[in-house]
Amino acid sequence: MPTFCLIDDKYVPLYRILWVSALPHFCGSPDCQQEGNYEVRLEDGESVWASSPEERDAVLRALEAWSGETSPDDDQ
Ligand SMILES: [Zn+2]
Repeated sequence: MPTFCLIDDKYVPLYRILWVSALPHFCGSPDCQQEGNYEVRLEDGESVWASSPEERDAVLRALEAWSGETSPDDDQ
């Protein structure tokens, strides 16, 4: 049973994750370092960023396995 998930070279405790973005980040800022990355929000207001859909999906799978649930209407 995994308790940590590797996101952007950081081992993140799954119990600290609040939500995972379904869409790649876009804010239009020329200084933005996270354009096209998938935000993973942590409970203290921090975010980490998955750099690909595959990395984001791996986070979701780890969360599902950790919580012992799979969504009944998600067949992916
Ligand atoms: Zn941005």
